[in-house]
Amino acid sequence: MTVEGSGAIEALRCLACGTAHPIALLYRCPACRGILQVERSVPASGMWRRSDFVADEVTLGEGDTPLREVPASLVSAEFGGRLYVKDETRNPSGSFKDRLVAAAMTQARRLGVERVVSASSGNAGAAAACYAANAGIPALICCPESTPHGKLAQIKAYGAQLELVPGHYGNSFARAMELTRQGYANLTTTYLNPFGVDALRLFGQEIVTALGKGTANWVAIPTSSGPLVQGVYQGFADHGAKVRILAAQAEGCAPIASAFASNAAAVQPWNNPHTVASGISDPLIEHADEGTHTLTLVRSSNGQALASPDEEILAAMADLARRAGIFCEPTAAASLASVRRLFRAGGLDPSATVVCAVTGHGFKDFSAWSSLTLK
Ligand SMILES: *Cc1c(COP(=O)(O)O)cnc(C)c1O
Ligand SMILES: [Zn+2]
Repeated sequence: MTVEGSGAIEALRCLACGTAHPIALLYRCPACRGILQVERSVPASGMWRRSDFVADEVTLGEGDTPLREVPASLVSAEFGGRLYVKDETRNPSGSFKDRLVAAAMTQARRLGVERVVSASSGNAGAAAACYAANAGIPALICCPESTPHGKLAQIKAYGAQLELVPGHYGNSFARAMELTRQGYANLTTTYLNPFGVDALRLFGQEIVTALGKGTANWVAIPTSSGPLVQGVYQGFADHGAKVRILAAQAEGCAPIASAFASNAAAVQPWNNPHTVASGISDPLIEHADEGTHTLTLVRSSNGQALASPDEEILAAMADLARRAGIFCEPTAAASLASVRRLFRAGGLDPSATVVCAVTGHGFKDFSAWSSLTLK
């Protein structure tokens, strides 16, 4: 089946067995359950545009976010390089998840779906609820009970149905899969929806376009299962450029960083995730292969994966607000926290150019801010 208006998408290719599948609402390879990746024809310019991923009637102005230079001393007084933030708080629902959901929703509509579901630690659900409201499509969002109240309120504000699922994110993920079998299009923003993940290459492309090829040495990315890592990796590759990827996790949920530290070939699911960084609290239960794929990309970029304790993440969050005017949620500051760690460990050249992805807005998680500002 080919889909009218599906732009340059040619097939869904399985990363595990290599089979190419025709365009459909597939989430895993029907032959081997492997991760699926969108295969596109390369445009004459060599570069894709937003309109190749997102239909006019779906877009809400996501992406094309500012890349802003901030004081290098945010890393350390001894750091003499350059520091930039890619400010994803500017997206319509306040996180970079809008990029994935806009593309996934575009494809879901082309394939004629009537309702959508998303498993979420908050931001993916808010994005799905936001774009579903605009599309006039009912949305059901499955979130862990521990999700920050502000994110749950935002999901409800857009009129989505919220289902609180006991336990960690893995249970919400499983519940959304169950609903998928009942006819919902699944917009979950792990590697599950290949159309959403595909659009993240634009994030990488925007950085290369803004800084010029060969300028950025490192991009630090708060990392859960890792689609944004892939987006940076691919976006740089689209320009024939390379960058070292720093995958930033929290000590309370660090499946990828711990596999990196122990030189393991594969990522194992994390038991008992517990961190103030709710957006990166996915223990990867039932989809640890996604973590392994991300780890492979980190390694092949000559990068690193590091976990920071919550205190360091909160300190980085406060410093971004107080010294650069960026109001973000804890998860989003994990990138700066990990850059600080890398520098302290001697892994960062003191004259390097570093980009920190600041992935979600501070308005989403006032409880984290209250604990700091009321002191
Ligand atoms: C989801 C999320 C991440 C993690 O991104 P992945 O691509 O799923 O690894 C990082 N930051 C924020 C704010 C998020 O919501
Ligand atoms: Zn396969």
